Amino acid sequence: MTPVYLALGSNLDDPAMQLHAALVELAALPHCRIVAASSAYRSAAIGPGNQADYLNAVLMLNTSLSAVELLSATQAIEIKRGRVRSERWAARTLDIDILLFGDEIINTTTLQVPHPRMAERNFVLYPLAEIANHKMVLPSMGVLGSLLAKCPRGDLVKTNVSLRNLADSK
Ligand code: ATP
Ligand code: CA
Ligand code: CA
Repeated sequence: MTPVYLALGSNLDDPAMQLHAALVELAALPHCRIVAASSAYRSAAIGPGNQADYLNAVLMLNTSLSAVELLSATQAIEIKRGRVRSERWAARTLDIDILLFGDEIINTTTLQVPHPRMAERNFVLYPLAEIANHKMVLPSMGVLGSLLAKCPRGDLVKTNVSLRNLADSK
């Protein structure tokens, strides 16, 4: 089983509901077991135009799927949740990014792991730090605690929306 961290994000069609739905869908995937879930964090959108705020969270799961199989499964869940791909960083019902896949470094056209932009994103690092050891090493990026120290919290707000109870009930 490989330990995997996933980032969830939504800023359309009831983001809290979208994150819960994503957790339920991920928990139902074959060969995957959810181990931990962060709180949901709210922040202003970084994408183009006047977008609604985002809710983001990070999950840890154990899986015997390959990284490519997991990417197909998460993309199928995004589509099921009504994700429409338009311009880059457009508003979306659900985004699921593979942050870390064990200690693998993957650099193909369709999959880069660790997620190349994760170290500069407060909405990824802060929820990750809620469920992962700060001494954890992100391959090619460094120690989580050091990355966190260099990443301002900015406008990020930890909400009382927690996916943990749902994860525990599985
Ligand atoms: P960003 O990657 O900056 O967070 P985004 O999530 O909005 O932007 P998407 O439109 O969801 O980008 O994804 C574009 C493509 O990124 C996907 O089709 C997928 O093939 C590719 N991709 C590369 N690495 C990853 C990864 N680690 N997790 C998920 N998708 C990835
Ligand atoms: Ca993303
Ligand atoms: Ca994505």
